[in-house]
Amino acid sequence: MKTDVVIVGAGPAGIFTAIEMLRKGSKKKIVIVEKGKSVENRRCPKNKTNKCVDCKPYCHITTGFSGAGAFSDGKLSLSFEVGGDLPELIGAEKAQETIEYTDKIYLEFGADEKIEGLDRNDEVKEIRKRAIRAGLKLVDCPIRHIGTEKAQALYLAIEKYLQENGVGILFEYECNAPIVQDGVCKGVTVTKSDGSQTLEIFAKHTVIATGRRGAGWLESVCERYGVEHTAGVVDIGVRVEVRNEIMETVNKTLYESKLIGYPLPFKNKVRTFCQNPGGFVSQENYDDRLAVVNGHSFKDLKTENTNVSILCSHHFSYPFNQPIAYAKKIGELANMLGAGQILVQRYGDILSGKRTWQDELSRSNVRPTLKDAVAGDITSALPYRTMVNIINFMQAVD
Ligand SMILES: Cc1cc2nc3c(=O)[nH]c(=O)nc-3n(C[C@H](O)[C@H](O)[C@H](O)COP(=O)(O)OP(=O)(O)OC[C@H]3O[C@@H](n4cnc5c(N)ncnc54)[C@H](O)[C@@H]3O)c2cc1C
Repeated sequence: MKTDVVIVGAGPAGIFTAIEMLRKGSKKKIVIVEKGKSVENRRCPKNKTNKCVDCKPYCHITTGFSGAGAFSDGKLSLSFEVGGDLPELIGAEKAQETIEYTDKIYLEFGADEKIEGLDRNDEVKEIRKRAIRAGLKLVDCPIRHIGTEKAQALYLAIEKYLQENGVGILFEYECNAPIVQDGVCKGVTVTKSDGSQTLEIFAKHTVIATGRRGAGWLESVCERYGVEHTAGVVDIGVRVEVRNEIMETVNKTLYESKLIGYPLPFKNKVRTFCQNPGGFVSQENYDDRLAVVNGHSFKDLKTENTNVSILCSHHFSYPFNQPIAYAKKIGELANMLGAGQILVQRYGDILSGKRTWQDELSRSNVRPTLKDAVAGDITSALPYRTMVNIINFMQAVD
């Protein structure tokens, strides 16, 4: 196959590469290669089975059109202060401009007009005061909440727009390797997920947008072809679930509290991430059966719990440069202790230095929304530094 541009991965990065080319009036032939299915065919069977059945050859939660975000909360954080390294890479002003530009595209495809966290100034001030007293920073961040079910409809509209405008999308094809001739990338080889076909796609330009799940693969490609790359930061943490009553003030005022702290003794960055008022904790499986948790909240269907991630940033320096492999090992250890299932432990038990038992969990005020999570001991899996950071941060947030 021959094309002008081949994009590997149909997550937000790959999708918006194609959208932006079309919006700029490009007449180039674009082909997107995606390992998973189209958005309308992505389905997690857990609704019926009530437990993760470890779908093969890939997990529908993390793979397919719209990428890792398809079943997430569909929340757009509209401040450059929240998210990854973009402000360091292109400057804060340009990052903010880009966020606003992208937000307009989401609106065109049907995102909710409402922005959370802009009114209620006095209440925000009060929350900020309390955060400062606890040694935390409350980041101002307007949020557009699309909602899990509406995000899928929105991405379906984008998928149709791309196809109607001539973008070819090859679903269920996995890129194995770039085609490199004389030190220049000439395209990619891809294989159908059932192994029935392998194609060579020659392209003038190749864009690799394989997200977190493709990061290890991309790193190995860079190693093989001598492409310079740096190890990024990796965030390790837990998802905390509490009753809505506990988070009521914050939920109503901000929807999501973006809190950052640098707790003693390590002073590493610890932060809240992806808060889901009335939401669900969900499981997602990565390659090699690594099971991790995500959280999402529907616009209409609400639970009695709020969940939020608490993440601790890990930077490594010489001689270690494999942050993702490090995080994966910790995930594997937690999975091992849960016999392949997600571990859940009561905060009080962590402080008392004991594991949680299933019958204690069933007597608890909080009934986990992840029904097949098993009671156990998270502290036996997380490194000391990560665990201390999380406990100290939670105490400050409390
Ligand atoms: C728990 C959690 C909650 C989140 N909640 C939100 C939220 O509410 N709002 C928000 O804005 N962001 C959220 N995010 C972040 C968001 O999901 C990511 O920032 C975003 O998906 C990254 O986009 P991407 O295109 O870089 O990668 P991805 O979305 O991971 O997309 C990469 C795509 O490439 C495909 N792929 C990978 N390898 C190959 C290969 N070899 N060949 C072919 N295809 C391949 C994958 O199947 C995938 O579809 C959340 C993330 C997590 C983990």
